[in-house]
Amino acid sequence: MGDKTMPVTGGCLCGAVRYEAEAFLHNTSYCHCRMCQRASGAPVQVSVFIRPETLRFTSGEPKYYQSSSFGERGFCPNCGSQLIWRSRSAEHPEWTNLGVGCLDHPEHFVPASHEGVESQLPWFNIDDDLPRRRTEDDPEVAAAWAVVDQGKE
Ligand SMILES: [Zn+2]
Ligand SMILES: [Zn+2]
Repeated sequence: MGDKTMPVTGGCLCGAVRYEAEAFLHNTSYCHCRMCQRASGAPVQVSVFIRPETLRFTSGEPKYYQSSSFGERGFCPNCGSQLIWRSRSAEHPEWTNLGVGCLDHPEHFVPASHEGVESQLPWFNIDDDLPRRRTEDDPEVAAAWAVVDQGKE
């Protein structure tokens, strides 16, 4: 990802967990997948990719729930805000991303695509022309899930 980054700060609803990082300016997306729906309780999650090595917690620490073999979701142990999806993949550390709603300035990060549209809710109407992808359309993501599926056999 050769995109420009900008420094961001953010934190959870109660303020116990605060962070800073460098986030990619043009790498924000909606995710409609069932895991994001369940994790957030919302029809869609919006997140932005960051340079993982720049992430620093300036107050508190999230608790992590490992939601797949290649990722874990960090949330405030006090208020439950969904803060981060952290890559557990040695091959793809760059998949780490922050929930845009927890940024101090979410308005700077404009979604550029819809992911996981196979689970988009039929009543959730989006009036935009952004690219729409199914989870299986991203070869790297599909490959990561293929490894997970093999492990279940
Ligand atoms: Zn909190
Ligand atoms: Zn998702």
